Amino acid sequence: MTTTRFAPSPTGYIHVGNLRTALFNYMIAAKSGGTFILRIDDTDPVRSEEKYVDAIKQDLEWLGLTWDKVERQSTRLDRYAETADKLREMGRFYEAFETPVELDLKRKKQLNMGKPPVYDRSALALSDAEKEAMRAERGNGVWRYKLDQERIEWTDGILGDISIDAASVSDPVLIRGDGQVLYTLASIVDDTDMGVTNVVRGSDHVTNTATQIQMIKAIGGTVPDFAHHSLLTGPQGESLSKRLGTLALRDLREAGVQPMALLSLLARLGSSQPVELRTSMDELIEGFDVTQFGSAPTKFDVDDLYPLTARYNQTLSLDAVKTRISDLGISDDQAERFWDVTRENITVLSDLAEWADLVKNGAEPLIEDEDKEFVAEAMAMLPEAPYVDTTWGEWTSAVKAATGRKGKGLFMPLRKAVTGRQRGPDMASLMPLLQVIKAKG
Ligand code: GLU
Repeated sequence: MTTTRFAPSPTGYIHVGNLRTALFNYMIAAKSGGTFILRIDDTDPVRSEEKYVDAIKQDLEWLGLTWDKVERQSTRLDRYAETADKLREMGRFYEAFETPVELDLKRKKQLNMGKPPVYDRSALALSDAEKEAMRAERGNGVWRYKLDQERIEWTDGILGDISIDAASVSDPVLIRGDGQVLYTLASIVDDTDMGVTNVVRGSDHVTNTATQIQMIKAIGGTVPDFAHHSLLTGPQGESLSKRLGTLALRDLREAGVQPMALLSLLARLGSSQPVELRTSMDELIEGFDVTQFGSAPTKFDVDDLYPLTARYNQTLSLDAVKTRISDLGISDDQAERFWDVTRENITVLSDLAEWADLVKNGAEPLIEDEDKEFVAEAMAMLPEAPYVDTTWGEWTSAVKAATGRKGKGLFMPLRKAVTGRQRGPDMASLMPLLQVIKAKG
Protein backbone atom coordinates (compact mmCIF):
# COMPACT_ATOMS: atom_id res chain seq x y z
CA MET A 1 0.00 0.00 0.00
CA THR A 2 1.35 3.40 -0.96
CA THR A 3 1.61 6.14 1.63
CA THR A 4 2.89 9.58 0.72
CA ARG A 5 3.02 12.86 2.50
CA PHE A 6 3.20 16.54 1.74
CA ALA A 7 5.14 18.17 4.54
CA PRO A 8 5.04 21.95 4.48
CA SER A 9 6.32 24.11 7.30
CA PRO A 10 3.58 26.57 8.26
CA THR A 11 5.88 29.56 8.05
CA GLY A 12 4.36 31.16 4.98
CA TYR A 13 1.83 30.72 2.21
CA ILE A 14 2.45 27.86 -0.18
CA HIS A 15 3.44 28.69 -3.74
CA VAL A 16 3.72 26.98 -7.11
CA GLY A 17 6.99 25.30 -6.10
CA ASN A 18 5.33 23.69 -3.08
CA LEU A 19 2.34 22.75 -5.17
CA ARG A 20 4.49 20.65 -7.43
CA THR A 21 5.66 18.62 -4.44
CA ALA A 22 2.16 18.34 -3.03
CA LEU A 23 0.65 17.34 -6.35
CA PHE A 24 3.21 14.63 -7.14
CA ASN A 25 2.76 13.05 -3.73
CA TYR A 26 -1.00 13.34 -3.97
CA MET A 27 -1.09 11.71 -7.39
CA ILE A 28 1.19 8.84 -6.44
CA ALA A 29 -1.10 7.99 -3.56
CA ALA A 30 -4.28 8.53 -5.55
CA LYS A 31 -3.10 6.44 -8.48
CA SER A 32 -2.61 3.40 -6.29
CA GLY A 33 -5.54 4.01 -3.96
CA GLY A 34 -3.07 4.73 -1.18
CA THR A 35 -2.94 7.25 1.64
CA PHE A 36 -1.95 10.88 1.30
CA ILE A 37 -0.90 12.54 4.53
CA LEU A 38 -0.78 16.26 5.10
CA ARG A 39 2.08 16.60 7.54
CA ILE A 40 2.52 19.95 9.16
CA ASP A 41 6.21 20.43 9.97
CA ASP A 42 5.71 22.79 12.88
CA THR A 43 8.53 22.00 15.27
CA ASP A 44 9.72 25.58 15.07
CA PRO A 45 7.40 27.35 17.54
CA VAL A 46 8.66 30.79 16.67
CA ARG A 47 8.26 30.69 12.90
CA SER A 48 5.21 28.41 12.67
CA GLU A 49 1.86 30.16 12.65
CA GLU A 50 -1.64 28.78 12.87
CA LYS A 51 -2.86 31.13 10.16
CA TYR A 52 -0.49 29.42 7.73
CA VAL A 53 -1.75 25.97 8.73
CA ASP A 54 -5.28 27.13 7.87
CA ALA A 55 -4.06 28.76 4.67
CA ILE A 56 -2.25 25.62 3.51
CA LYS A 57 -5.42 23.59 4.04
CA GLN A 58 -7.56 26.13 2.19
CA ASP A 59 -5.14 26.23 -0.72
CA LEU A 60 -5.01 22.44 -1.03
CA GLU A 61 -8.79 22.20 -0.76
CA TRP A 62 -9.21 24.81 -3.46
CA LEU A 63 -7.16 22.58 -5.73
CA GLY A 64 -8.97 19.42 -4.71
CA LEU A 65 -5.83 17.90 -3.20
CA THR A 66 -7.64 16.33 -0.31
CA TRP A 67 -5.70 14.46 2.31
CA ASP A 68 -6.60 11.30 4.15
CA LYS A 69 -4.95 12.36 7.38
CA VAL A 70 -3.36 15.37 8.99
CA GLU A 71 -0.34 14.91 11.21
CA ARG A 72 1.33 17.63 13.19
CA GLN A 73 4.91 17.36 14.31
CA SER A 74 4.27 19.60 17.30
CA THR A 75 2.06 16.86 18.76
CA ARG A 76 4.75 14.21 18.33
CA LEU A 77 7.58 15.68 20.36
CA ASP A 78 7.55 12.70 22.75
CA ARG A 79 8.25 10.33 19.88
CA TYR A 80 11.18 12.45 18.75
CA ALA A 81 12.55 12.55 22.31
CA GLU A 82 12.25 8.77 22.57
CA THR A 83 14.11 8.32 19.32
CA ALA A 84 16.77 10.78 20.40
CA ASP A 85 17.28 8.71 23.58
CA LYS A 86 17.56 5.58 21.52
CA LEU A 87 20.17 7.15 19.26
CA ARG A 88 22.07 8.38 22.31
CA GLU A 89 22.11 4.85 23.73
CA MET A 90 23.32 3.56 20.40
CA GLY A 91 26.21 6.02 20.50
CA ARG A 92 24.95 7.79 17.38
CA PHE A 93 24.31 11.09 19.05
CA TYR A 94 26.83 13.56 20.39
CA GLU A 95 26.66 16.98 21.89
CA ALA A 96 28.64 19.75 20.24
CA PHE A 97 29.19 23.29 21.48
CA GLU A 98 30.64 25.33 18.63
CA THR A 99 29.01 28.68 18.11
CA PRO A 100 27.85 29.61 14.60
CA VAL A 101 30.79 32.00 14.35
CA GLU A 102 33.26 29.24 15.24
CA LEU A 103 31.68 26.89 12.72
CA ASP A 104 31.87 29.55 10.08
CA LEU A 105 35.55 30.11 10.79
CA LYS A 106 36.24 26.39 10.54
CA ARG A 107 34.42 26.22 7.23
CA LYS A 108 36.38 29.13 5.83
CA LYS A 109 39.66 27.56 6.90
CA GLN A 110 38.75 24.26 5.27
CA LEU A 111 37.72 25.99 2.06
CA ASN A 112 40.98 27.96 2.04
CA MET A 113 42.87 24.70 2.27
CA GLY A 114 40.82 23.31 -0.60
CA LYS A 115 38.95 20.88 1.67
CA PRO A 116 35.20 20.29 1.73
CA PRO A 117 33.61 22.25 4.57
CA VAL A 118 32.57 19.27 6.64
CA TYR A 119 32.16 19.48 10.41
CA ASP A 120 35.43 18.15 11.88
CA ARG A 121 33.79 16.26 14.77
CA SER A 122 36.02 17.91 17.34
CA ALA A 123 33.16 17.62 19.85
CA LEU A 124 33.69 13.86 19.86
CA ALA A 125 37.02 14.39 21.58
CA LEU A 126 35.53 16.29 24.53
CA SER A 127 35.75 14.56 27.91
CA ASP A 128 32.74 14.57 30.24
CA ALA A 129 34.40 17.22 32.35
CA GLU A 130 35.06 19.41 29.31
CA LYS A 131 31.46 19.05 28.23
CA GLU A 132 30.31 20.01 31.72
CA ALA A 133 32.49 23.09 31.56
CA MET A 134 31.19 23.97 28.11
CA ARG A 135 27.60 23.60 29.27
CA ALA A 136 28.27 25.85 32.24
CA GLU A 137 29.79 28.43 29.94
CA ARG A 138 27.58 28.22 26.86
CA GLY A 139 24.45 26.38 27.87
CA ASN A 140 23.38 23.08 26.31
CA GLY A 141 25.05 22.07 23.10
CA VAL A 142 23.42 20.89 19.90
CA TRP A 143 23.01 17.18 19.23
CA ARG A 144 24.57 15.83 16.10
CA TYR A 145 24.04 12.49 14.47
CA LYS A 146 27.28 10.58 13.91
CA LEU A 147 27.13 9.42 10.32
CA ASP A 148 28.73 6.18 9.27
CA GLN A 149 31.26 7.29 6.73
CA GLU A 150 30.13 5.00 3.98
CA ARG A 151 28.68 5.54 0.54
CA ILE A 152 24.95 6.02 0.68
CA GLU A 153 23.19 4.87 -2.46
CA TRP A 154 19.68 4.83 -3.77
CA THR A 155 17.86 4.73 -7.06
CA ASP A 156 15.99 7.96 -7.30
CA GLY A 157 12.66 7.92 -9.11
CA ILE A 158 13.69 10.97 -11.12
CA LEU A 159 17.46 11.35 -10.78
CA GLY A 160 18.36 7.69 -11.25
CA ASP A 161 21.24 6.09 -9.35
CA ILE A 162 22.66 8.36 -6.68
CA SER A 163 25.73 7.71 -4.59
CA ILE A 164 26.81 10.13 -1.87
CA ASP A 165 29.89 9.77 0.26
CA ALA A 166 28.77 10.37 3.84
CA ALA A 167 32.29 11.56 4.64
CA SER A 168 31.58 14.60 2.50
CA VAL A 169 28.55 15.52 4.61
CA SER A 170 28.59 17.15 8.05
CA ASP A 171 27.04 15.18 10.88
CA PRO A 172 23.55 16.69 10.88
CA VAL A 173 22.34 18.66 13.87
CA LEU A 174 19.09 17.05 15.01
CA ILE A 175 18.34 18.94 18.21
CA ARG A 176 19.21 22.54 18.95
CA GLY A 177 20.70 23.82 22.17
CA ASP A 178 17.28 25.04 23.31
CA GLY A 179 15.87 21.54 22.82
CA GLN A 180 14.04 22.25 19.57
CA VAL A 181 13.86 19.15 17.41
CA LEU A 182 14.97 19.86 13.87
CA TYR A 183 13.35 18.71 10.67
CA THR A 184 15.69 15.80 9.92
CA LEU A 185 14.99 13.95 13.15
CA ALA A 186 11.26 14.66 13.07
CA SER A 187 11.04 13.64 9.46
CA ILE A 188 12.76 10.26 9.78
CA VAL A 189 10.69 9.39 12.82
CA ASP A 190 7.47 10.37 11.04
CA ASP A 191 8.30 8.65 7.78
CA THR A 192 9.05 5.50 9.75
CA ASP A 193 6.09 5.62 12.17
CA MET A 194 3.63 6.60 9.45
CA GLY A 195 4.77 3.92 7.05
CA VAL A 196 5.59 6.39 4.29
CA THR A 197 6.49 4.38 1.19
CA ASN A 198 7.22 7.14 -1.34
CA VAL A 199 8.75 10.55 -0.85
CA VAL A 200 8.82 13.13 -3.62
CA ARG A 201 10.42 16.45 -2.80
CA GLY A 202 12.61 19.11 -4.33
CA SER A 203 16.15 18.38 -5.42
CA ASP A 204 17.39 20.74 -2.71
CA HIS A 205 16.79 17.78 -0.38
CA VAL A 206 19.11 15.28 -2.07
CA THR A 207 21.87 15.55 0.56
CA ASN A 208 19.30 15.34 3.34
CA THR A 209 18.04 12.17 1.77
CA ALA A 210 21.45 10.54 2.00
CA THR A 211 21.67 11.20 5.73
CA GLN A 212 18.02 10.30 6.27
CA ILE A 213 18.46 6.94 4.60
CA GLN A 214 21.22 6.09 7.03
CA MET A 215 19.21 7.30 10.00
CA ILE A 216 16.04 5.52 8.99
CA LYS A 217 18.01 2.28 8.82
CA ALA A 218 19.60 3.03 12.21
CA ILE A 219 16.20 3.36 13.89
CA GLY A 220 14.96 0.19 12.21
CA GLY A 221 12.67 1.84 9.68
CA THR A 222 12.01 0.91 6.07
CA VAL A 223 13.59 3.30 3.61
CA PRO A 224 10.93 4.82 1.32
CA ASP A 225 11.37 5.23 -2.43
CA PHE A 226 12.70 8.70 -3.05
CA ALA A 227 12.24 10.95 -6.06
CA HIS A 228 13.61 14.47 -6.24
CA HIS A 229 12.00 16.81 -8.70
CA SER A 230 13.94 19.72 -10.14
CA LEU A 231 13.30 23.19 -8.86
CA LEU A 232 11.25 25.69 -10.81
CA THR A 233 12.94 28.66 -12.39
CA GLY A 234 11.49 31.71 -14.11
CA PRO A 235 10.90 31.68 -17.89
CA GLN A 236 14.49 32.80 -18.55
CA GLY A 237 15.96 30.22 -16.21
CA GLU A 238 16.32 32.80 -13.46
CA SER A 239 15.92 31.76 -9.86
CA LEU A 240 12.36 31.95 -8.63
CA SER A 241 13.24 32.16 -4.98
CA LYS A 242 12.65 35.90 -4.78
CA ARG A 243 9.51 35.77 -6.88
CA LEU A 244 7.90 32.81 -5.17
CA GLY A 245 6.35 35.26 -2.74
CA THR A 246 4.24 36.55 -5.62
CA LEU A 247 3.41 33.08 -6.83
CA ALA A 248 1.52 32.08 -3.71
CA LEU A 249 -1.43 29.86 -4.55
CA ARG A 250 -3.85 32.27 -2.91
CA ASP A 251 -2.66 35.10 -5.12
CA LEU A 252 -3.20 32.98 -8.20
CA ARG A 253 -6.66 32.09 -6.95
CA GLU A 254 -7.35 35.77 -6.36
CA ALA A 255 -6.17 36.53 -9.91
CA GLY A 256 -8.78 34.11 -11.24
CA VAL A 257 -6.53 31.21 -12.21
CA GLN A 258 -8.57 28.02 -12.38
CA PRO A 259 -7.44 25.06 -10.26
CA MET A 260 -7.49 22.71 -13.24
CA ALA A 261 -5.32 25.11 -15.24
CA LEU A 262 -2.75 25.21 -12.47
CA LEU A 263 -2.88 21.46 -11.93
CA SER A 264 -2.73 20.69 -15.65
CA LEU A 265 0.40 22.77 -16.02
CA LEU A 266 2.23 21.57 -12.94
CA ALA A 267 1.37 17.92 -13.36
CA ARG A 268 3.20 17.83 -16.71
CA LEU A 269 5.66 20.73 -16.79
CA GLY A 270 9.22 19.36 -16.87
CA SER A 271 8.10 15.93 -18.02
CA SER A 272 8.23 14.27 -21.41
CA GLN A 273 4.48 14.69 -21.75
CA PRO A 274 2.85 17.76 -23.31
CA VAL A 275 0.94 20.24 -21.18
CA GLU A 276 -2.71 19.97 -22.08
CA LEU A 277 -5.75 21.22 -20.27
CA ARG A 278 -7.39 18.43 -18.28
CA THR A 279 -10.75 19.04 -16.79
CA SER A 280 -10.65 16.45 -14.04
CA MET A 281 -8.18 15.22 -11.50
CA ASP A 282 -8.79 11.64 -12.64
CA GLU A 283 -7.51 12.45 -16.11
CA LEU A 284 -4.40 14.01 -14.64
CA ILE A 285 -3.73 11.07 -12.39
CA GLU A 286 -4.25 8.67 -15.25
CA GLY A 287 -1.33 9.99 -17.27
CA PHE A 288 0.96 10.76 -14.34
CA ASP A 289 4.27 8.99 -14.02
CA VAL A 290 6.95 10.50 -11.83
CA THR A 291 9.75 8.78 -13.78
CA GLN A 292 8.90 10.87 -16.84
CA PHE A 293 10.17 14.03 -15.21
CA GLY A 294 13.61 15.35 -16.06
CA SER A 295 16.30 16.44 -13.66
CA ALA A 296 17.00 19.79 -15.36
CA PRO A 297 15.55 22.91 -13.76
CA THR A 298 11.99 23.43 -14.94
CA LYS A 299 11.01 26.75 -16.45
CA PHE A 300 7.77 28.12 -15.13
CA ASP A 301 5.98 31.05 -16.68
CA VAL A 302 3.00 32.30 -14.73
CA ASP A 303 1.53 33.67 -17.97
CA ASP A 304 1.04 30.11 -19.21
CA LEU A 305 -1.72 29.73 -16.63
CA TYR A 306 -3.99 32.22 -18.36
CA PRO A 307 -4.60 30.55 -21.73
CA LEU A 308 -5.28 27.32 -19.82
CA THR A 309 -7.63 29.17 -17.51
CA ALA A 310 -9.42 30.73 -20.47
CA ARG A 311 -9.83 27.34 -22.09
CA TYR A 312 -11.13 25.84 -18.88
CA ASN A 313 -13.60 28.67 -18.45
CA GLN A 314 -14.94 28.06 -21.94
CA THR A 315 -15.89 24.55 -20.89
CA LEU A 316 -18.06 25.74 -18.00
CA SER A 317 -21.78 25.20 -18.19
CA LEU A 318 -24.22 28.01 -17.58
CA ASP A 319 -25.01 26.43 -14.24
CA ALA A 320 -21.45 26.87 -13.10
CA VAL A 321 -21.50 30.62 -13.76
CA LYS A 322 -25.17 31.47 -13.23
CA THR A 323 -24.77 33.06 -9.82
CA ARG A 324 -21.82 35.12 -10.92
CA ILE A 325 -23.74 36.36 -13.97
CA SER A 326 -26.80 37.21 -11.96
CA ASP A 327 -24.61 39.04 -9.41
CA LEU A 328 -23.47 41.22 -12.30
CA GLY A 329 -27.06 42.35 -12.80
CA ILE A 330 -27.83 40.25 -15.88
CA SER A 331 -31.41 38.98 -15.81
CA ASP A 332 -32.07 35.23 -15.76
CA ASP A 333 -33.66 35.25 -19.21
CA GLN A 334 -30.57 36.92 -20.67
CA ALA A 335 -28.06 34.76 -18.75
CA GLU A 336 -27.74 31.99 -21.29
CA ARG A 337 -27.14 34.32 -24.18
CA PHE A 338 -24.79 36.44 -22.09
CA TRP A 339 -22.66 33.40 -21.27
CA ASP A 340 -22.72 32.13 -24.85
CA VAL A 341 -21.48 35.38 -26.28
CA THR A 342 -18.90 36.16 -23.61
CA ARG A 343 -17.36 32.79 -22.76
CA GLU A 344 -14.86 32.97 -25.60
CA ASN A 345 -14.03 36.56 -24.89
CA ILE A 346 -12.81 36.26 -21.34
CA THR A 347 -9.64 34.96 -19.71
CA VAL A 348 -10.67 34.93 -16.09
CA LEU A 349 -14.27 34.93 -14.91
CA SER A 350 -13.96 38.41 -13.44
CA ASP A 351 -13.60 39.63 -17.05
CA LEU A 352 -17.35 39.03 -17.29
CA ALA A 353 -17.84 42.26 -15.35
CA GLU A 354 -16.69 44.42 -18.23
CA TRP A 355 -19.06 42.69 -20.64
CA ALA A 356 -21.90 43.11 -18.15
CA ASP A 357 -21.03 46.77 -17.91
CA LEU A 358 -21.11 47.05 -21.69
CA VAL A 359 -24.53 45.48 -22.05
CA LYS A 360 -26.09 47.41 -19.18
CA ASN A 361 -24.45 50.80 -19.51
CA GLY A 362 -23.01 50.88 -22.99
CA ALA A 363 -19.44 51.75 -23.85
CA GLU A 364 -17.67 54.96 -24.72
CA PRO A 365 -17.75 54.75 -28.52
CA LEU A 366 -14.47 54.31 -30.34
CA ILE A 367 -14.75 56.33 -33.53
CA GLU A 368 -11.87 57.19 -35.86
CA ASP A 369 -11.94 60.69 -37.34
CA GLU A 370 -12.46 59.41 -40.85
CA ASP A 371 -15.48 57.37 -39.69
CA LYS A 372 -17.32 60.17 -37.87
CA GLU A 373 -19.85 60.94 -40.56
CA PHE A 374 -20.34 57.34 -41.50
CA VAL A 375 -21.05 56.35 -37.90
CA ALA A 376 -23.45 59.26 -37.40
CA GLU A 377 -25.36 58.26 -40.51
CA ALA A 378 -25.46 54.61 -39.44
CA MET A 379 -26.62 55.45 -35.91
CA ALA A 380 -29.52 57.39 -37.29
CA MET A 381 -30.64 54.21 -39.02
CA LEU A 382 -30.42 52.04 -35.91
CA PRO A 383 -33.82 51.45 -34.29
CA GLU A 384 -34.33 51.81 -30.55
CA ALA A 385 -33.65 48.91 -28.18
CA PRO A 386 -34.73 46.20 -27.51
CA TYR A 387 -32.81 44.45 -30.22
CA VAL A 388 -33.33 40.98 -31.60
CA ASP A 389 -31.28 38.38 -33.43
CA THR A 390 -31.93 39.95 -36.81
CA THR A 391 -31.17 43.54 -35.79
CA TRP A 392 -27.49 43.53 -36.68
CA GLY A 393 -28.04 41.90 -40.08
CA GLU A 394 -30.88 44.19 -41.06
CA TRP A 395 -29.15 47.30 -39.79
CA THR A 396 -25.82 46.64 -41.48
CA SER A 397 -27.58 45.76 -44.77
CA ALA A 398 -29.44 49.03 -44.64
CA VAL A 399 -26.23 50.95 -43.80
CA LYS A 400 -24.43 49.18 -46.61
CA ALA A 401 -27.12 50.13 -49.10
CA ALA A 402 -27.13 53.74 -47.91
CA THR A 403 -23.36 54.31 -47.73
CA GLY A 404 -21.88 51.82 -50.16
CA ARG A 405 -19.46 50.57 -47.48
CA LYS A 406 -18.88 46.85 -47.17
CA GLY A 407 -16.78 44.22 -45.42
CA LYS A 408 -14.39 45.39 -42.74
CA GLY A 409 -14.92 49.03 -43.64
CA LEU A 410 -18.58 48.59 -42.81
CA PHE A 411 -18.49 46.29 -39.79
CA MET A 412 -15.40 47.45 -37.90
CA PRO A 413 -16.40 51.09 -37.33
CA LEU A 414 -19.85 49.94 -36.21
CA ARG A 415 -18.42 47.37 -33.80
CA LYS A 416 -16.05 49.98 -32.37
CA ALA A 417 -18.78 52.57 -32.07
CA VAL A 418 -21.23 50.21 -30.39
CA THR A 419 -18.87 48.28 -28.09
CA GLY A 420 -15.96 50.68 -27.68
CA ARG A 421 -13.66 47.77 -28.55
CA GLN A 422 -11.85 46.40 -31.58
CA ARG A 423 -12.71 42.82 -30.76
CA GLY A 424 -15.40 40.91 -29.04
CA PRO A 425 -18.32 38.55 -29.47
CA ASP A 426 -20.26 38.00 -32.66
CA MET A 427 -22.21 41.25 -33.10
CA ALA A 428 -25.45 39.62 -34.23
CA SER A 429 -25.56 37.57 -31.03
CA LEU A 430 -24.47 40.47 -28.87
CA MET A 431 -27.01 43.03 -30.09
CA PRO A 432 -30.04 41.57 -28.30
CA LEU A 433 -28.19 41.95 -24.98
CA LEU A 434 -27.36 45.62 -25.44
CA GLN A 435 -29.55 47.93 -23.41
CA VAL A 436 -27.67 51.15 -24.11
CA ILE A 437 -25.71 52.23 -27.17
CA LYS A 438 -24.00 55.48 -26.28
CA ALA A 439 -23.00 56.20 -29.86
CA LYS A 440 -26.65 56.45 -30.73
CA GLY A 441 -26.89 59.43 -28.39
N1 GLU B 1 9.19 20.62 5.79
C1 GLU B 1 10.14 20.19 4.80
C2 GLU B 1 10.21 21.24 3.71
O1 GLU B 1 9.24 21.95 3.51
C3 GLU B 1 9.73 18.86 4.25
C4 GLU B 1 10.71 18.23 3.34
C5 GLU B 1 10.34 16.77 3.09
O2 GLU B 1 9.48 16.53 2.26
O3 GLU B 1 10.91 15.92 3.73
O4 GLU B 1 11.22 21.40 3.05
